[in-house]
Amino acid sequence: MGASFKRRRRRTCLHDVGAAILFFGTLTQQTELRQAAKIALSELALRGYSIPSEDDPVRVFPALTNGAFSGSHAGGWRPGSIYLRQQPQGELNETVYLRHELFHEASHRTCAGKISSWAEEAGAMYFSGELAGIVPGDWPSAYELQNIKNRVRQGSELNGSDRAVLARLVVNGGWPSEACAVSTQLNDMLGGAFEDATDSSYRLVSLLSGRVLASAGDQVSRLPPGSLLKIPYAAALEHVNPDLLAAELVASDTEKLLQRREQFQDEHYRLLLSPIAEQKLPSNFELSNPQNWRAYLGERNADGEFALQATLPELALAMRAALLSRPDYFRGLSQNGLLPNSTLAGQSEADIKLLRQLQVLAKTGTVSTVDGRPLVGHLMLAWPAAHPVFMAIFRQRGVSGAGVLSKAAALLRTWQRDYPSRYAKVRVSLLTSTKTGSWDVEPDCPLVANQYRRFTVCGQFRIISTARGSRTERIVRGVLQQSGEQGPTVLETDVDSYVDGVLAAEAQNLVGSAREAMRAVIAWNGSHGSHRHNESSSLCDTTHCMVFLGEPPGDKPRRSGHVEIELMQLLDKLAVESGLNWLPFANGGDQQWQRQLSVDELRRAFAENQILDIRRERRKDGELLIRLLYPSSEELLSCEIFRNTLKLPSCPDSVKAIDNQTWQFVGVGAGHGLGLSIARAVVLAESGRNAAEILRDAYGGKKPRPSH
Ligand SMILES: [Zn+2]
Ligand SMILES: [Zn+2]
Repeated sequence: MGASFKRRRRRTCLHDVGAAILFFGTLTQQTELRQAAKIALSELALRGYSIPSEDDPVRVFPALTNGAFSGSHAGGWRPGSIYLRQQPQGELNETVYLRHELFHEASHRTCAGKISSWAEEAGAMYFSGELAGIVPGDWPSAYELQNIKNRVRQGSELNGSDRAVLARLVVNGGWPSEACAVSTQLNDMLGGAFEDATDSSYRLVSLLSGRVLASAGDQVSRLPPGSLLKIPYAAALEHVNPDLLAAELVASDTEKLLQRREQFQDEHYRLLLSPIAEQKLPSNFELSNPQNWRAYLGERNADGEFALQATLPELALAMRAALLSRPDYFRGLSQNGLLPNSTLAGQSEADIKLLRQLQVLAKTGTVSTVDGRPLVGHLMLAWPAAHPVFMAIFRQRGVSGAGVLSKAAALLRTWQRDYPSRYAKVRVSLLTSTKTGSWDVEPDCPLVANQYRRFTVCGQFRIISTARGSRTERIVRGVLQQSGEQGPTVLETDVDSYVDGVLAAEAQNLVGSAREAMRAVIAWNGSHGSHRHNESSSLCDTTHCMVFLGEPPGDKPRRSGHVEIELMQLLDKLAVESGLNWLPFANGGDQQWQRQLSVDELRRAFAENQILDIRRERRKDGELLIRLLYPSSEELLSCEIFRNTLKLPSCPDSVKAIDNQTWQFVGVGAGHGLGLSIARAVVLAESGRNAAEILRDAYGGKKPRPSH
């Protein structure tokens, strides 16, 4: 309709609604219906609703008698159009249905986005007169209420039984007649879609270990993740060309992905999603309805419900498992925002540029109402694309997945600085000086394994050791790799978890700036030290590198802080200046110590009847070992384990028998005296030096003296 045509028309008077409703087909003959419509519109106008006008009319069409109307609706409504079934079944006449649909039209014009769809439906029921035959007093049961509540929470379209329950609620609780008003009593009972979740939240984790690096906002509400579920769905596909799959994932192409269902491994999918407690995935029987397949990809099932709802922590674990299980499948997600049909295409250029610069894999997920209004948006980011070490999940109410990008990009800019990927990963060989066969790694929750690596969906493994002197049980977090048949078991973990595991073994009681400095040194060595054992590009977990014990079992997960990036940069500089590729440290002190232990004490410590000899040996890679000779066997221990067993201050420099009954152990201070001395760091910290000053003292040219 052209503007000039519009201008010729006179302004409509409030009650002159004749041309505000245009009837079509057989409906034009029904004068009674036209009269009822006029009355309905003037009632709505009096209540404060914006109603159709001559300039912006509503059209009423006769509906095919066998048209697809849902449940008990005898009419249908879309903004601007009403479809009316003639001679409806049941005791209600056409006028009631027309009033119902006109209410939807007026409410859409006046209250769109302000009230939930169940509330609009309640208003329509109350206004239309359809509740006249229902006797008050019969409130729905708790069970009936639970059903409608679930669907309201998920933003699902109400079904026939929901509508019957809602009708009884309105009859008993009443409904306010002012425009867009909602009964507080019923609102307390039903609420809105995802109203219990706060507006936006996020969670940043190490993809390797699952450790939480940063999080904010609501971490407890269970919401459907939408198309983020295409990630585990894709990870559960066999024999896939990753390039083709990537194109389908960046476009979030449900139809193409559904065509791959022959390649889908249900069991693997369920394994990846096992961290999510609330799930009702379709059974084999239900899969005969193709709509139910969509539930696997995060869409509504045939009943209009979501099969799966997750908290942010659960979702992060499931996405981590999927990304780790098929890394080759997801590299193409780095094209999201660049390809014209990708879900992030058209977002802010600066934000897309940032994703590209950090080489971010991105996947969106949107949950919408049936009429396409976004209820909640999710965005999953993982980087850097080639070997991701970080993963973040963002969630925001009322926007699409792509609409979350601007908030996510703002955080990404700060994380780019605080969590550089070059300091994000540590590779450490486990129990390098302990006999194979005397220890084992056990998954602490469902295990995902392929020929290259093993990981658990919760991120954690339990190491059980029967080897003498080593801790019998401990927890490590990360991904395990076996380098060769005989090679060491290498743990890939995040730098903070590694630092915690070393601090616990090497410098448990440090506090303040001395601890901060030590933390930085361990982190620096951890993320730069894979040259220590070239064959497995890893560090070992003994004194040759740094002693790493993981966490004792049963400890609450500690969030003992994060290495300051400024300190890491300072160490980069100091290391270059002094030509170091490893920053040595030791417990320090230069006092010589000497211990004498009786043969009996030694026999008890090692549970052996007789110890013939104790010898120090140095392996080619520098590791110090102690060989114990028994009458019919011998044993090789790392010096670290040996000294821990006997509670000696450091690995002894000399071991000798001074007579038949006594062994003597002599050592100096607690280490080698190079680099950072822990004893000195404590003194400096107590005299008020900060961590940077302590590090410059240890590794720089000019050494400040402690002041008293
Ligand atoms: Zn309705
Ligand atoms: Zn080593």
